[in-house]
Amino acid sequence: MDSRSDVLIVGGGPVGAALAGLLADSGLSVVLLEARSVDATDPRSIALSYGSALLLQRIGAWEDALRDTPIESVHVSQHGGWGRALIRARDQGVPALGYVCAYGAVHAALAQRVRDAGGTVALRTGARALGISAHPDHVEVQTEAGTQRTADAARLVVLADGGQVSAGLVDHRDHDYGQCAVVADIGCEPANQGRAFERFCPPGPVALLPAPGGYALVWTVPSRQAAALAGLPEQAFLAELQEVFGERAGRFAHCGPRSVFPLRLRVARAPRAGRVLLLGNAAQTLHPVAGQGLNLGLRDADALAALIRAQPGALDDPSLARRFHAARRADRLGTVAITDSLVRLFSNDLVPLRTLRGYGLTLLDVLPPAKHAFAQRMMFGG
Ligand SMILES: Cc1cc2nc3c(=O)[nH]c(=O)nc-3n(C[C@H](O)[C@H](O)[C@H](O)COP(=O)(O)OP(=O)(O)OC[C@H]3O[C@@H](n4cnc5c(N)ncnc54)[C@H](O)[C@@H]3O)c2cc1C
Repeated sequence: MDSRSDVLIVGGGPVGAALAGLLADSGLSVVLLEARSVDATDPRSIALSYGSALLLQRIGAWEDALRDTPIESVHVSQHGGWGRALIRARDQGVPALGYVCAYGAVHAALAQRVRDAGGTVALRTGARALGISAHPDHVEVQTEAGTQRTADAARLVVLADGGQVSAGLVDHRDHDYGQCAVVADIGCEPANQGRAFERFCPPGPVALLPAPGGYALVWTVPSRQAAALAGLPEQAFLAELQEVFGERAGRFAHCGPRSVFPLRLRVARAPRAGRVLLLGNAAQTLHPVAGQGLNLGLRDADALAALIRAQPGALDDPSLARRFHAARRADRLGTVAITDSLVRLFSNDLVPLRTLRGYGLTLLDVLPPAKHAFAQRMMFGG
């Protein structure tokens, strides 16, 4: 073996890096393998929930740059139908419902925390895991870094690779939404007031997240229309977006480069196999509606780190994986169910459903306990 560690994490994205950060001073030897050789560049903006912001603070990765765009309220509505709900941070007793951050900034802050930890945590960038083999007392990971191949052994392997290595390892429930998200930065006048908008349209939900000078847009459309929409001339693109939102979010003045992400639901039926555990997108890849994927993954990392820290000897105990799975089951399946039902319930133009949605949004708006329960769920999970 080229290396031996207590915990080997495959995938140094935000979830893998968060787990490494949470284990930094546990006394365990931790190796974090990341296939990319430099910090992630990714056009995604992420709505980090208030709960995730608290978690990043605890890890020591909550930097000034991340707190720049607080979400003070969220306005939820449907295109072509009545009913709307407004959720405000001040009514929920929190300074912000969440914060909008670039994926790269969240990733860089967490990766820096891991680098700073030094000691028993090693971050190996440019190192891609190629395969995994299980043995009674350890797991072996075959890794490629440049022209070098190594075999690394660990007592516990955590796959936080976004779902690539784990694809053949466990059974998944898979559903292609037939939708893509077109993302871009949108300049707006007047400047946003810390308000996010989630607007449900028959082709798919459209989100505007407050960002410096305007919004970060996540526009869901049927896959067959995504390339054409993303390729529209700037003014035509803005005119279409304005038609979706009317004037409620201001006048859209300019638009940055656009990127397209295919969307699917992919949920591991049991996110574990012996000494191998799945975390974050490797365990469940969700539709981005309501911005839950990374927030859920960070809660996964927090729960696993707490179990390991409470009983480091349990790394060799087969019941660790079972207890982790049981502890995360309700939050995982609940969040999957909420995001999946929102997409299915709102991505259509059926009149009875439109009316039902109108009543649902109005009730959410006028019933403080319902609004509070929903806001708490979105901020802190189940
Ligand atoms: C358009 C869009 C908008 C979104 N908005 C939000 C939002 O507002 N809020 C929210 O909470 N979530 C959001 N999400 C979801 C969020 O992006 C994901 O849930 C999150 O990135 C998952 O993090 P992760 O670390 O599990 O996986 P990833 O971000 O996919 O990271 C996986 C890492 O593993 C590395 N890797 C892969 N294979 C290997 C290998 N073989 N060896 C070593 N390393 C490997 C990759 O290089 C990568 O760094 C959004 C998603 C999309 C598509």
